[in-house]
Amino acid sequence: MEDLLVDGHGRRISDLRVSVTDRCNFRCQYCMPADGLPWLDRTAVLTFEEIERLVRIFASLGVTDLRLTGGEPLVRRDFPRLVGMLSRVEGLDDVSLTTNGYLLERDAAALVEAGINRVNVSIDSLQRDRFFQITRRDSLPQVLRGLDELAKHPEVHPIKVNAVAIRGFTEQEAIPFAEFARSTAFQVRFIEFMPLDADHAWSADQVLTGEELRQIIDAVHPIEELPREPSATARVFRFRDGTGEIGFINPVSEPFCSDCNRIRLTAEGKLRTCLFSIHETDLREPLRSGATDADIERVIRDAVWRKELKHNVGEPGFRQPPRSMSAIGG
Ligand code: SF4
Repeated sequence: MEDLLVDGHGRRISDLRVSVTDRCNFRCQYCMPADGLPWLDRTAVLTFEEIERLVRIFASLGVTDLRLTGGEPLVRRDFPRLVGMLSRVEGLDDVSLTTNGYLLERDAAALVEAGINRVNVSIDSLQRDRFFQITRRDSLPQVLRGLDELAKHPEVHPIKVNAVAIRGFTEQEAIPFAEFARSTAFQVRFIEFMPLDADHAWSADQVLTGEELRQIIDAVHPIEELPREPSATARVFRFRDGTGEIGFINPVSEPFCSDCNRIRLTAEGKLRTCLFSIHETDLREPLRSGATDADIERVIRDAVWRKELKHNVGEPGFRQPPRSMSAIGG
């Protein structure tokens, strides 16, 4: 294997998140406006073959974990075929998916057969009306059917349910989600609301911290922390009575940048070295203008070497990225 990919801070980069589309069938309040966003022209979006070639180059540089995101990846036509192509890339240990779950009932079997081994499903409320309130879609029953369909495939593990935590909304969801984690095989995690919304309306006082949620849950269902995995984003706790796990991803109140091993590729081929990057590196242009794999590798190494040490959310001088979460992917 080539020299492994490391950044200028000595961190080994082994986790690549690829957004396969900027399009989505939901309109989550904390992500995009009710009318959606101007979507990328289809010719601007990387083809399956282009994604496969880039993933192969990244894998040759030591990337072992690949997460497929969007927008909503399942709205991309023939997506399971792309999963199959990527699952065959040498060097990858893990191919996972982040989805809103709406099309999971339809696609679960095909995705598993194609090689998906871990899935995160984004669900912000287990109450139908409140789910509708935050996603602007009356789709909770459909999403839960998708989860159940996926759970029929034991080779997909773990299956995680991610809920964005917003002050004034998620406090009421804490115990229902804790009881969901205790009564199912799904691991629930709360993610602090981040300044990546298309409306740029985020403010620190809207962030309900992981610690606050932990206290709400611990008061009813006592929990204890499990050891943290290297480069993990979540602090994971188990219920003291042994029935399940629950996690907290606290990028705002407890940043976890020091051992970050993640980089991202947008749907149109921009390399983002941090979720909050202001600068991006275009890989599509060299890809489409005859660059060799070695040329593209040099561009990647150079960009990764300049990877940001950390985000500076909440610090003076923080600039929200112009690109919203729907166009970055989780
Ligand atoms: S904010 Fe950036 S540096 Fe920090 S963990 Fe996320 S991607 Fe890594």
